[in-house]
Amino acid sequence: MSEVIRSEWPRNSVCYEEETGAVEEPNRLDAFDSHFHADRLSRALKGHTRAAITDLVSANVGCSPRNPVNVVGGVTIYCDPESYPVSLPCQRGFGAAIGVHPKKCHLLTTAKFQMVLDHLKSWDVALGKTGLDRTEPESTWKLQEDTMVRLLNFSMPVRPVILHMRDGVDEHAGEVSAKCLQILKANAAPTQKIHLHSFGGTVEQVVGWLDAFPNCYFGFSE
Ligand SMILES: [Zn+2]
Repeated sequence: MSEVIRSEWPRNSVCYEEETGAVEEPNRLDAFDSHFHADRLSRALKGHTRAAITDLVSANVGCSPRNPVNVVGGVTIYCDPESYPVSLPCQRGFGAAIGVHPKKCHLLTTAKFQMVLDHLKSWDVALGKTGLDRTEPESTWKLQEDTMVRLLNFSMPVRPVILHMRDGVDEHAGEVSAKCLQILKANAAPTQKIHLHSFGGTVEQVVGWLDAFPNCYFGFSE
């Protein structure tokens, strides 16, 4: 199976959904979408956050991808506390992750945090996204780090952690990557599975992450 690593929705991603999934074409490659936001996509297409994944995969959004694929599975990321689902979608081939987008840590109330923990009681739910986003005001960085540590308390090696790293100045996010690596080393096992999504770092960063976490995988964006 080929893997289609897709970046932050909605950049370039809605087109990808057209004519995929529901109609399987034999000449198309099978694709697994390792990172998408079903709730955001549902809101954009349907006006609510509860659309079934099959409806999202087969939605006609009015434009065609350059290389159409059959979407046979994926991981939907729930990281917006204001729209956490009560139950996670159950769709063959698709998994789910729950966490907090670093831009939204201020929305993680006690009740919302409890929702995260309730979902994480299922061993097959991934943890994320979490991470650091320094495109946000510096006044929020400490809360981002604290929230990351708080969530990583519930990490397990077999439960993938989905990491988000952004810097407003450095396109490679070198300092952010170093900080995230430091936090992960202190709060997760070396065997922890990690998906560094939309990674834009350097070769040296890749080496650093793999040295510490051999089960780290990198997603790239166009
Ligand atoms: Zn995302």
